[in-house]
Amino acid sequence: MEGGKLLIFSAPSGSGKTTIVQHLLKQPDLNLAFSVSATSRPRRGKEKNGEHYYFMSVSEFKKHIKNDDFLEWEEVYRDNFYGTLKSEVERLWEEGKNVIFDIDVAGGLRIKKKFPDLTLAVFVKPPSVDELKIRLKKRSTESEDKINMRIAKASVELATAPQFDRTIRNYDLDTALEEAHTLVAEFVNDSLKN
Ligand code: 5GP
Repeated sequence: MEGGKLLIFSAPSGSGKTTIVQHLLKQPDLNLAFSVSATSRPRRGKEKNGEHYYFMSVSEFKKHIKNDDFLEWEEVYRDNFYGTLKSEVERLWEEGKNVIFDIDVAGGLRIKKKFPDLTLAVFVKPPSVDELKIRLKKRSTESEDKINMRIAKASVELATAPQFDRTIRNYDLDTALEEAHTLVAEFVNDSLKN
């Protein structure tokens, strides 16, 4: 199993990493395709199956774990499983694409370990934990409990930033988008690492 480059964007939820990933996907010079993860969490808002996630039941997810179908998987919140199917990355590699992931910190680092030379792992830092709280509340797609769970996880995740190849501070979105584009362009053109 080997092909194009792997770009990992990890960050506490609410840091703006999804906005950054979506922006990068629109840049034709980067030749990126999004790795659609599998998840057992319920669908939110306008999310579409096969586009945002492959939505499945907990038992279906566990069947895939048993079959060794995942490159990495994580129980990110209780009974909310998330994982990258090997078949998804293979599919995008066959299309000749570089693959970009919007996954949690532990999953991102696991992929980097499996493919150290092919992977650029980028950590997106929010301005502060307080700002994160405000952003998550504004999004208001979830209950107070769920938001608090995400914030508790964020503090743990922030401590892992040094394990990533690069960190982007998302204080100003336009600056962060430009910085992300430059980093990825250099990496896919082979001049960044080493
Ligand atoms: P959300 O429920 O907000 O879509 O995602 C919750 C968290 O799960 C986010 O940090 C997201 O990046 C992470 N996540 C999404 N897909 C995957 C995956 O395939 N593997 C892992 N390890 N985490 C994922």
